Amino acid sequence: MKELIVGIDLGTTNSELAVIQDGQVKVISIHGNPIMPSCVGIDPSGKLMVGEAAKNQLVAAPESTVLSIKRKMGEDAKVTLGDKAFSPEEISSLILRELKQTGERELGQPVNKAVITVPAFFNEKQRKATQAAGELAGLEVVRIINEPTAAALAYGAGRTADETMLVYDLGGGTFDVSVVVVEDGVVEVKASHGDTHLGGDDFDQLLVEHAVREFKKLHGVDLGQDLKTLRRLKVVMEQAKRRLSDEPCVRLREEYLDGQRHLEMEILRDDYERMIAQHLDKTLDCVHQSLKDAQLLPDDIDKVMLVGGATRTPLVQRLLKDRIRIEPRFEINPDLIVAMGAAIQAGVIAGEKHHSILVDITPHTFSTACIGFHEDCERLVCAPIIARNTPLPASKAEMFYTMVDQQEEIKVTAYQGEHRLPEENMLIGEFQVEGLGKVPAGNPILIHFALDLNGMLKVTATEKTTGLAKDVAMDTRGKGALDVQEARRNIAALVGEPAPDAAGAAAVADGEDSSDAAAAAESLLATAKDLRKRGEGLLQKNVNAEDANEIRELIHQSAAAIKEQDWEELSEKNDALADLLFYLED
Ligand code: AMP
Repeated sequence: MKELIVGIDLGTTNSELAVIQDGQVKVISIHGNPIMPSCVGIDPSGKLMVGEAAKNQLVAAPESTVLSIKRKMGEDAKVTLGDKAFSPEEISSLILRELKQTGERELGQPVNKAVITVPAFFNEKQRKATQAAGELAGLEVVRIINEPTAAALAYGAGRTADETMLVYDLGGGTFDVSVVVVEDGVVEVKASHGDTHLGGDDFDQLLVEHAVREFKKLHGVDLGQDLKTLRRLKVVMEQAKRRLSDEPCVRLREEYLDGQRHLEMEILRDDYERMIAQHLDKTLDCVHQSLKDAQLLPDDIDKVMLVGGATRTPLVQRLLKDRIRIEPRFEINPDLIVAMGAAIQAGVIAGEKHHSILVDITPHTFSTACIGFHEDCERLVCAPIIARNTPLPASKAEMFYTMVDQQEEIKVTAYQGEHRLPEENMLIGEFQVEGLGKVPAGNPILIHFALDLNGMLKVTATEKTTGLAKDVAMDTRGKGALDVQEARRNIAALVGEPAPDAAGAAAVADGEDSSDAAAAAESLLATAKDLRKRGEGLLQKNVNAEDANEIRELIHQSAAAIKEQDWEELSEKNDALADLLFYLED
C-alpha cells in the first residue's frame, strides 16, 4: 500500500483536506462539508471547538473565538482565547489537528504526513510558522507548496495541451498571482507576486467602517470600540459583501445593534466597488509585475484562472478582463482547487503514478549584507545571492572579502526582499564566524545560500584561502522562535490530553527528504531550467559556431529527456551542459 500523505489548504477563512485515492483526487468532507471555517474557540466550559462550531459563537463570544489567524503567522504575536494567550502557530495547529483527525476518521487509517499550501508570497518566517503548526498538530510536513502553484497543478493534471496561465488567487486574507506554463505535464511557475495582507477580510473591514460611520451619522453613537458589536457587524457585512456579488444593491436591517438602536442601511454595488477599488488596483500592480518578471505580455496569456472565494467579486473579473483581455475562468471550484493540488503533490511524493511535475520558484530575493555603495555613500547594502523567480531548489554562492588586516571575525546575515538597503528588507537571521586566519584584508569568504523546495533557506559561510574552512549553518528561525515544548504543553492542556514527550512527537520536517523521488526530479528540472537560461544567454553573445551548436543540441536533448521524464538522461545532459557552460562563461 502506498504511503498516505494528505494535501491541506490552510486558509485564512476556510481550510480543506484532500487526498489521492485510486488515482483520483478526493476532497474529504469535514462534518458533512468539504469546507471547514479556519475558526478556533472555546465554549463556556472551556471545551475546545474548531470549525463550524467555533464560527457559530463568533458573535456571542468574541473573546473566546479566534479567526483569520493566518494573517498573524510568522509574527511574534499572541492572541487570547478565553484567559490564555496563544501563538499563531498554536492556533493554526488546532485547525490542522482537526483536519488530521477528520482524515483519520474518514479514511480509517492514521494521517501522519501532509503537504500544506501557503501563499506564494509568504516569507521565510511565515513558512516556518506553518511548518511548526503542522509539527504541533502531529503532522510531518513533507512539503510546503504555494497556493497558486497547487491550483495550477490541479488544473494541469492530465492535460496535454501547452498553456500559459495567469493564476489570480484572492482569498480571505492573502493575494497571490503566478504566471504558470503547463507543458508536457510539467507545471512550471515563471513568476509570482503578491501581498500576504490583502484579501476579502479587508473588504469586510471597509464595509464595517462604512456602517460605523453611517450609524454615527444617523444616531450620533460610536460603535467603534465594542468588540461584540464589531464582530456582529463583520458577520453581517461579510454576508452583504457576498450578496453584492449577485445583486446590484442590498438592504440591511440589524436590530438593536448597540442594544437600543437598529442599523438600517442600503449598500449599492457601485459604492462598494469604489471602496475596494484601491485594493484591487494593488492586485493588478502585482499582476503586471509578475508578467514583467516572466518577460511576457498580457497577449501571451492563454488563460486567466480564478482561485479563492474573493474572486467571485464581479469587479475582480471585470478588471482582469479589461487588463488581460481574456475572460477569467473558475476552472475548478475555487474553494477546493488548492487542496486538490496539494493532494496531487502529496500523491506524487508518496509515489502515486501521476503525470504532473512541478517546477516552482522563489518569489523573493535572498541577499547578504556587505559594505558597498548606495547613492555615492559607502554603507551596508544587500548583495543578492538568490534572485527572485529562481527555480527551486536553488543553491548559489558568492565570494566576499574581509575589510581589514587581521580580521578574525565576520557577521553573516541573510535578508529577504528586493531593496538595496538591508533595513528595508526582512532580516531572516544572522550568525558570527569567528577565528578566521590572521591574514591581510581581502580574505575571501564564500557565502552559500541553499533554498529548498519548501522555499526555506540554509546559509553556510566558508573561509577559503587559509585552508581553514568554517561552515556555519544558520538557524533561520531567529529570535522570537516558537518554544515547541511549551507550545505542546499549551495545546495538550487545551485539548485535555497529556503532553507528548519530545521523543514521541512527530519528526521535525526539515523539508529535505533525499529518498523522495519527486523531490529529486524537481531538483533535476530546476537545474535544467537554470542551465537552459544560462545557455540561451550565452547564445545571445559571441560564442563560436561549434560551441553554439553544442549548447543548442544539449538544450534540445535535455528538453526531450524532460518530456520523457527520463531523469537519468536529464541528469547526464545537465552535467554535460554545466561542464560546457563552465568553460564558456566568464
Ligand atoms: P478563501 O480564503 O478562498 O476561502 O476565500 C474566502 C474569502 O472569500 C472570504 O473573504 C469570503 O468572504 C470571500 N467570498 C466568498 N464568497 C464570496 C462571494 N460570493 N463574493 C465575494 N466574496 C466572497
